[in-house]
Amino acid sequence: MNLKKIFLALICMGLLEVNAVQWCVVGAGPAGIVVVGLLLDLGIPKKDIVWVDPEFNVGRIGHYYQTVPGNTKTSLYIDFIQACKAFQECAPHAVQELYNYNLVKEYPLSIIVKPLQDITNCMRFKVTSHQTLLTGLEYSADTWHIELADGKEFDAQRVVLATGAHPRSLQYQECAEEIPLDYALNKDLLGQLVNPEDTVAVIGSAHSAVLVLKFLSELPVSRIINFYKKPFVYTQDMGGWLLYSSSGLKGIAAEWAKNVLEKNPPCNLARIYNSEKARKAWLPLCTKIIYAAGYERNPIPGCNPDMEYNTQTGFIAPGLFGIGIAFPEVIVDQAGNTEYKIGLNSFMQHALDMLPVWNRSRLQVIEMLYNFKRFEELFDIHVL
Ligand SMILES: Cc1cc2nc3c(=O)[nH]c(=O)nc-3n(C[C@H](O)[C@H](O)[C@H](O)COP(=O)(O)OP(=O)(O)OC[C@H]3O[C@@H](n4cnc5c(N)ncnc54)[C@H](O)[C@@H]3O)c2cc1C
Repeated sequence: MNLKKIFLALICMGLLEVNAVQWCVVGAGPAGIVVVGLLLDLGIPKKDIVWVDPEFNVGRIGHYYQTVPGNTKTSLYIDFIQACKAFQECAPHAVQELYNYNLVKEYPLSIIVKPLQDITNCMRFKVTSHQTLLTGLEYSADTWHIELADGKEFDAQRVVLATGAHPRSLQYQECAEEIPLDYALNKDLLGQLVNPEDTVAVIGSAHSAVLVLKFLSELPVSRIINFYKKPFVYTQDMGGWLLYSSSGLKGIAAEWAKNVLEKNPPCNLARIYNSEKARKAWLPLCTKIIYAAGYERNPIPGCNPDMEYNTQTGFIAPGLFGIGIAFPEVIVDQAGNTEYKIGLNSFMQHALDMLPVWNRSRLQVIEMLYNFKRFEELFDIHVL
């Protein structure tokens, strides 16, 4: 049998295997919403998209962060919604409503959560949605076998994990009473969890840490001790590109860090380099601790928690892709800094670039390989 016949046989085998749905998207935070919207834009039949999430309420920003001051200017949210036709069909007034805000200012995240909730409610009923958890994921016979907490099982040709992340807790023994970051980022809730006698430790120096420090400085607490490892960095427009585009402080957090923390910090707030010695000396004085020390991927049943992915393409395994804060795109900027692209517009751009590639049928991939093989033979080159 010559090479072409082998490939044709493979193609036939691929075509015969039609029992599975084409796509399963796991997670309905911003990243999952983007993927489902763009799959609809690509013309994938609705019956061929299954969407799984236990809540369908815009992930972590919908659940916890609506009052959090955002770091995205309104105009970028408008670009975000306009990038997807399905979004505009589902929330036809969203863009008009965003025009009521100052386009070059940042607002609390609720201004984008509300349209994303409308979009979710509408798209959920365009595709097949299951309001439950993914509990099992197994690869066999060239498809992904999926198990859900409600007992349902099915096969999918491609699975997108948009399963998000949760705040990292460092569990320093010297101060046991932790206020979860998700609560601390809501100033009213934080106000109920601290009292005037408290000395509160805040670990970290990025966006969330600065917001928590700002909130605490406006609440009646005795002392605030910020343990930091890195100096503050600010996003800067370098004329055509942004320095520290994702990792830098922006919006209210940047303004407050620059003008208050760095120039004229509140007298009950101390900043200390986070070394073991400093922790031993200072943490026993703290009555409460807040870890704003980054996020870690939510566990995915059936998968290794440290599973690797291609940070440019989101590729995890054949037909298995990752996106969003759990599997962010990583770039190196013009100054050589590594940036994790976390944010709604980054997810949209990454999905616009990658979904057409992820969507290539087996037939196209096999043809591509076949042509590649011929190219290899013609030019006497060797490609692994
Ligand atoms: C303080 C703060 C401020 C921010 N401000 C901005 C901003 O101004 N602009 C901006 O663009 N971004 C901002 N971000 C970042 C951005 O909001 C997050 O990166 C984004 O919400 C992550 O989206 P996600 O969809 O990847 O994950 P998530 O929002 O975490 O969603 C993951 C979803 O997956 C579901 N899931 C998890 N496991 C399973 C399972 N086993 N089965 C089924 N479903 C599952 C969860 O229920 C959840 O709904 C901010 C983040 C923080 C923390």
